[in-house]
Amino acid sequence: MTDALLSVRDLRVQFRTRRGPVTALDGVDYDVYAGRTLAVVGESGSGKSVTARAIMGLLPRRTSTVTGGRIMLGGRDLLSMSKSARQAVRGERIAMVFQDALSALNPVLPVGFQISEGARKRRHLDRRAARQLAVDLMDQVGIPAAKARVGAFPHEFSGGMRQRVLIAMALAQDPEILIADEPTTALDVTIQAQILRLLTDLQAQRQMGLVLITHDMGVVANTADEIAVMYCGRIVEQGSCGAIFESPAHPYTQALLDSIPRPELRGTLLPAIPGSPPDPAHRPSGCSFRTRCPRAFAACVDEPPVVRWLEDPRVGQPPPAAEPVPAAGQRLSACHLCVRAEPNGAGTAGGGAIGGGAR
Ligand code: SF4
Repeated sequence: MTDALLSVRDLRVQFRTRRGPVTALDGVDYDVYAGRTLAVVGESGSGKSVTARAIMGLLPRRTSTVTGGRIMLGGRDLLSMSKSARQAVRGERIAMVFQDALSALNPVLPVGFQISEGARKRRHLDRRAARQLAVDLMDQVGIPAAKARVGAFPHEFSGGMRQRVLIAMALAQDPEILIADEPTTALDVTIQAQILRLLTDLQAQRQMGLVLITHDMGVVANTADEIAVMYCGRIVEQGSCGAIFESPAHPYTQALLDSIPRPELRGTLLPAIPGSPPDPAHRPSGCSFRTRCPRAFAACVDEPPVVRWLEDPRVGQPPPAAEPVPAAGQRLSACHLCVRAEPNGAGTAGGGAIGGGAR
């Protein structure tokens, strides 16, 4: 495996609120590799988008602070760069596709102008070259009659086509890394599949590192190479897509997988995770998931779980900074059960369960 394009290490972010400081990220680690897709999954409020915005340098300055960690790109820490250097990285090396295309696009400017705007300024393209670039990118992302529609406005496009315009905007700078933040949430299932296929095709053609942020485990099954599962500002499990789908180690991952709708379960109640994520301003002691976890036991109340490698001689140790992508079958997990895990990842709960029986 080659070196990571981007490495996030022990990233910590706090927001200033009327109720005092609130921890949004509590030590996030992940790597993004060329030509691979990392899916970051978890419920709303788990910290997926905050991590992406911290990478992009788009956190609100007045209300947020990065309190620790590093975001390494090409041997440089983005967090220690000047504002202008950071701006150069944004767009040129890392680009982001936002969830809501309608609010991300300017309603009074033609889409072609918006697609080529960044490239026009950075590469000093004249009007004709910028227009041709926009047409080419619209073609690449599958917008029909691109030449005729390059001067059209966002409201003249459907939701799926607007999302393609956003992807074209992101590609205009030829980035090494593309972060797609819930790019298909507002779309129907057919268009969702088309956009996901488009993203993965473009990634393969351009050998980009793709970070796909989603709350939907069903979306990542055919898309991701690696999966990082986030809960309450931490990564609770991370591993290859195959390993996580075949043998999830963390109870939260298991619950997310159980809640994927399946045709064979038609007519039955879809399993849901009980309760809701805790208020970040009032996290429970010990494991943040313990109030919803069916396998919680006494230690989960007092001790925050340490991230551990499963099926690895380093069990019990936090991952070293240059840890490669987990191989098939290997994964990280933050759960007390994992310290007792068998080599195949099956955990054995201790006595004194406090949240119900084992699955
Ligand atoms: Fe958290 Fe304990 Fe459940 Fe593991 S078993 S997820 S540590 S509550």
